[in-house]
Amino acid sequence: MIIAIDGPSGAGKSTLGKMLAKRLGLLYLDTGAMYRAAAMAATNAGISLDDQERVVSAVNRAHIELEGEPDNLLVSLDGEDVSATIRTPDAAHAASVVSTISGVRQRMVELQRSIGESAPNGCVLEGRDIGSVVFPNADVKFFLTAKTEARARRRFEEDNAKGRETTYEKTLTEIIERDRRDSTRKDSPLVRADGAIKIDTSDLSLDEVFDIMLRHIEQ
Ligand code: C5P
Repeated sequence: MIIAIDGPSGAGKSTLGKMLAKRLGLLYLDTGAMYRAAAMAATNAGISLDDQERVVSAVNRAHIELEGEPDNLLVSLDGEDVSATIRTPDAAHAASVVSTISGVRQRMVELQRSIGESAPNGCVLEGRDIGSVVFPNADVKFFLTAKTEARARRRFEEDNAKGRETTYEKTLTEIIERDRRDSTRKDSPLVRADGAIKIDTSDLSLDEVFDIMLRHIEQ
């Protein structure tokens, strides 16, 4: 079984994707973490993110792996644990820049398909293009969204809990900028895929959204 979850940052995709994977005994694949690690491969090599050709060759050479349980996902880049370093706002920004490059997307989609297809019981994948490009024939597709302010508030609270120095206004500006880049890029922009079930999570609790998603999957 393949479950696709797409939507903008802060809509609840990761938390709900992990909850579903655990409940259903499926592999959980955070594709955003892969774009974050891909961006890091380029920056670690001292390559400017504007130099698309060199970024693509760095990403093609990079060895990106995701292992472990949904709640304890280990992301490694060329054997080094980058699970924490890919979570900073700078890493999110770099990921959104490299994700506009077609050569990078090709490599990521290839890896994501092979991981999803080889998962013994199936896989929950979350990202921006899962239902539209990576697995257009997924068994169930969701498009999670929420008001921009609600998403910024959640992201700000998460960052705060992790001890990062930031402000709500700064987080809101970053989210707006990332939304703009993700939905206006030429290759695989963020869209609601054909047949995707749209859920606005702004005024729903996690448990409420989880129940709605489970009901759709059971159907
Ligand atoms: O989901 P997350 O915030 O970790 O993703 C980081 C960035 O990676 C997104 O802003 C987006 O630009 C890119 N991304 C993508 N396609 C995906 C997953 C993430 O373009 N399937």
